[in-house]
Amino acid sequence: MSVVHILRAELELLTAGAVTAPESLTIGSVLHPDLPVARDAWGRPYLPGTSLAGSLRQQAHRTGREEALFGNVRPGNGTDAPPSETIVVASPVRVLGTRLELPQPPETRRRTAIDRHRAAARPQTLHSRELLPPETKILLWLRVDTPGLESPLLDEFVDLLAAWRPVVGRGRTTGHGQALLTRVLKRSIDLDSADGMQHWLMGGGPALVDDHATVVYDHAKNGGPGALPEVFEQPLEFRITDALHIGSGDVLDRPGRRTRISAILRDHDDLPIVPGSTWKGVLRARCEFILRSVGLDACSSVGDDSGPCGTCVLCAAFGWTERTRAHDQASPDAELPPSIGARGRLVFTDTVIREGTVRIRNHVALDRVFGGARDEALYTEETIEDGTLTVRIRHDRDIPELARAALLLALDDLAAGRLGIGAGTTRGQGTLTVLPATGHLLARERPAAVETLRRLHAALTEEAPA
Ligand SMILES: [Zn+2]
Repeated sequence: MSVVHILRAELELLTAGAVTAPESLTIGSVLHPDLPVARDAWGRPYLPGTSLAGSLRQQAHRTGREEALFGNVRPGNGTDAPPSETIVVASPVRVLGTRLELPQPPETRRRTAIDRHRAAARPQTLHSRELLPPETKILLWLRVDTPGLESPLLDEFVDLLAAWRPVVGRGRTTGHGQALLTRVLKRSIDLDSADGMQHWLMGGGPALVDDHATVVYDHAKNGGPGALPEVFEQPLEFRITDALHIGSGDVLDRPGRRTRISAILRDHDDLPIVPGSTWKGVLRARCEFILRSVGLDACSSVGDDSGPCGTCVLCAAFGWTERTRAHDQASPDAELPPSIGARGRLVFTDTVIREGTVRIRNHVALDRVFGGARDEALYTEETIEDGTLTVRIRHDRDIPELARAALLLALDDLAAGRLGIGAGTTRGQGTLTVLPATGHLLARERPAAVETLRRLHAALTEEAPA
């Protein structure tokens, strides 16, 4: 073991994301977001190396080289060790640490869950999350020790990095934390040579990767893994029919106005957006409705006495988590189930609304007894009118055929105006009109989707005659 290779991987966030640290909240932190970004002892946003190590390990898992590159602790399988013994494999790759460079301070996003019956926000589900902005630079230092200057293991690891789609923190299926590996630098330090030993002993920390480092991967030159494939092989395009309001939870004070204005959600470039979480929530609710209304098995993922089942096709496609709180209330002494959920396969990203006009609309509640406007019930909100949206629904693993069919029918409902997004859908807001290319796609795919539902329903009734 005489050559130390220090690698510096340079990543850039494509979408907002962060590793959150809810444990850092104390009783006094009522003004902080519910899910603040992890910070170091000096209060600077920080990314734990374990987060990226986990993402890399998952990449190695796909090629079956997880244990060879990242080590493992597992029970013996009877061939190379007796089953009673534990096999421990040390990880040849070491994650040394990370550093962040932020273009602007972190932003806060609020989100909530939708009640399936009232079609409004459920109480006690509003939470806020702090996010690192897109274009945040992440520097990741790694170390691999090899006996000689050339090593197949090191080459394999560099290839693994080149094929890596890094994801940072939670919220992956709502489009958060997608990153791009832009460059990898390598500095090999031969400890048998005087130069190498001097550099190793005199240099330190980030300075170990100095001018003698070589570029072993460059996204601009080598290319890299492209974006995840789209479920319907093309983006879905809509236009806002009337007006749309997806609130950010912030209120604006404008001089000369009697009421404060409820602001719409905007991204880092101040453009109005529909967040990935809205698409995921609205489309999942509609998929559940569609499957249940034709008698197929689908759980109600949000509700008082239900929760995601973890076994239906929608749980497989959209993901699920165990509702531990409901579980605790039902049987506090029972052991928690070993599995606590699964990540979804569908990935919904934020959609920017282009060419829209932001208007301020006044609303007032009516007095049900006397008619007319009720006192002090005037409220004002920003809405966006016109404007087009290009929705991209991607997937990182295959999704069940039935889930794809349900998703297509849910999108068809959205295109036909049977379903709206954002606030005020019962007073005509949030309705979308489909643009021609997407209209053709939905018309073309619809019969096959209906046929899938019919076929699977027939198979189900044959199995268990009523
Ligand atoms: Zn389910």
